[in-house]
Amino acid sequence: MLAVQPAREATPAPEPLVSVAGVQKTYYTRQAPVHAVASASLDVARGEFVSLLGPSGCGKSTLLMMIAGLERPTGGSILLGGTEVRQPRREIGIIFQDATLLPWKSALDNVLFPVRILKLPMEAYRRRARELLAMVGLSDFEHKKPSQLSGGMRQRVAICRALIHDPDILLMDEPFSALDAITRDQMNVALSEILETYKKTVIFVTHSIREAAFLSDRVVVMGGRPSSIVLDMKMPFERPRRFEIEETAEFAAVCRKLRLTIEEAHSGAPSPDRTAQSRGTIE
Ligand code: ADP
Ligand code: MG
Repeated sequence: MLAVQPAREATPAPEPLVSVAGVQKTYYTRQAPVHAVASASLDVARGEFVSLLGPSGCGKSTLLMMIAGLERPTGGSILLGGTEVRQPRREIGIIFQDATLLPWKSALDNVLFPVRILKLPMEAYRRRARELLAMVGLSDFEHKKPSQLSGGMRQRVAICRALIHDPDILLMDEPFSALDAITRDQMNVALSEILETYKKTVIFVTHSIREAAFLSDRVVVMGGRPSSIVLDMKMPFERPRRFEIEETAEFAAVCRKLRLTIEEAHSGAPSPDRTAQSRGTIE
């Protein structure tokens, strides 16, 4: 017998992997309270690469640390896979500006450090660690200590360490801003390639307009005082991305829009157009 099918409804949009709703953060210090984030709402779908872009002090790290479960919001809610973030979660891997490697351990042992902490089977993960190091071009360096590696290499090790336990989400806080410009460009390409192999959801903090535009599916601009989200813009570039896109008129137009938005949020009024020019902490 045929079962009666219920009327088909429009397929609902897939639930976002990360959902930030009306989040606020005030730091209560011994001096006046610091309103770091006035209001932030943002959904990130599985597999998306979203950058948080804005000048220093606009609350990017604060928002990222709340998503990581390392800071508690003073208002609003953050859901990860539908459940509220209250503490650091295993589905998350974090990469900071400084590689923060253990100086006395080899590159390989640094990558394996979370395996030890999470009490996962070491032998199985050693193979994965070697695969990850090979992918970032560090096979010959796995026994080297951090002091024997360049800044870019150390940051590659940090990326491998964040990926070792196969988290769903990578949170990256200005991971390349301490690197020289050439290494930084190389790291942007390397990161894009890594993500083609290991599909992850990424939330990436940066104050570089070019870096945000190159890497992201969406760029979320934070600004204003106290800070909120002033623009959420989809990047119109195909993947895989190569350096050449940065030379296109479309890329220049996107960067210009992002820069004007940041300046407007900062000054409260549109500023005169000054294309491709570095200003303050915005590149
Ligand atoms: P960004 O990462 O965009 O540079 P932050 O999130 O680090 O910005 O900081 C946002 C604001 O919150 C700044 O004014 C900063 O000084 C302040 N802030 C950040 N962390 C703390 C803290 N632990 N205690 C007090 N104020 C803080
Ligand atoms: Mg920061």
